Amino acid sequence: MTGKGSALAGRLAQGTVLGAEGYVFELERRGYVKAGAYVPEAVLDFPDAVTELHREFLRAGADVMVALTYYAHRGKLRQVGRESELEAMNRQAVRLARQVAAEGGALVAGNVCNTWAYDPQDAATADVVRGMYTEQLGWAAEEGIDFVIAETNDYLGEALIGLEVSQELGLPAMVTLASTGPAETWDGYGYVEACKILAGHGAAIVGLNCDRGPATMLPLIARIREQVDCAVAAQPVPYRTSEASPTMESLRAEGVARVFPLALDPFSCTRFEMADFAVAARDLGVNYVGICCGAGPHHVRAMAEALGRTVPASKYSPSMDLHPILGTAAPRQNLGVLDAWNVIL
Ligand SMILES: [Zn+2]
Repeated sequence: MTGKGSALAGRLAQGTVLGAEGYVFELERRGYVKAGAYVPEAVLDFPDAVTELHREFLRAGADVMVALTYYAHRGKLRQVGRESELEAMNRQAVRLARQVAAEGGALVAGNVCNTWAYDPQDAATADVVRGMYTEQLGWAAEEGIDFVIAETNDYLGEALIGLEVSQELGLPAMVTLASTGPAETWDGYGYVEACKILAGHGAAIVGLNCDRGPATMLPLIARIREQVDCAVAAQPVPYRTSEASPTMESLRAEGVARVFPLALDPFSCTRFEMADFAVAARDLGVNYVGICCGAGPHHVRAMAEALGRTVPASKYSPSMDLHPILGTAAPRQNLGVLDAWNVIL
C-alpha cells in the first residue's frame, strides 16, 4: 500500500516533515544505554529518560515521535539476556512515544531496523527476520502507530521484508537504507536502484538514514530524489564526513585508536551546519528531513527554524544581543575582552 489517505500522507502533503532520531546514541551518552549492544533497555529501566528525550525532540520541532524499538528485536534481547521482556519493551516503547506525541500533535512511528540475522545466501534467515519484524510491528500496531520506519537497512532484501510486514499490517512504511558502502547495499544493489525497487513495492517514503553526514549524504540523496516518484527521506548523522571518509564509521583522527562510535565528538556538526543541511535537503525536494545518531535537540530546533518554523523551544532560542560581551548593548569596558577573544594566535 502507498499510505494514501493515511495520517502520514496528510502530513507529507502539508510540506516538509521534520524527523529526529538518534535516541540510542543520545541515551548512551546520558548513561541509560550500554554502548556495544545498544539495546534500548532504558524503555523498561528508565522510561522517564526516554520520555524526556521524546519531549525534547518534540519541543524542538520534530513532527514524528519514533518509538524506541531500535535493536529491541528478539535476537538482540536474547544477546543481553532479556528475551522474556521483548513484548513488554516493544509495547512500552510505543506507549511512551504516543504519550509525548499527544502533547504536540506529532505522528507516531513504529520502528524496526537491520537485525544482523539476514544473509542473502541463506533463505532460512529471511524467515527469521520476518518473524522478528512480525512480532515487533504486530505489538506496535496494536498499541497504535501511524506508520512504520524500517531503517538502517544494509541489505535491500531485508528492507523488503520490513516493507512487506508493514503492508500486511496495513501500515504505510518509510524504508531507509544505511549507506556504509561507496555505492551499493550489501546485497549488491546501487542505492538509487534499491530505492527505486522499494518505491516500486509500495513504500510510502524511501531514502537514507544514519552513517553518512550531511556532506556525503546530500549528493546521493539528490540522485535518489531524481529517480523515484514517491516521497524521499534523508536523515544523516551530524558528523563532518568527507569524500575521504564518507561515513562516520570511516572517520579517523590522529592518535585515536577508534573514532566510531565513542570518539566522534570532534567531528560533530554545529547547529548551523545542520540548519544548512535542512534547507539544502528541502530545496532538493526531500520530503522527510531529519537527523540520526549524534543528534541533539539543539540541532533539531535549528533545523526547524531554518525551515521557517517557530517551535515550542524557540522561546529559548539564542538572543545574542543580550550577551554581556557579544551583545550590541555590551558596555564599552567589555570591548577589550571581545578584542582578546578574537585574537588569532
Ligand atoms: Zn543512526
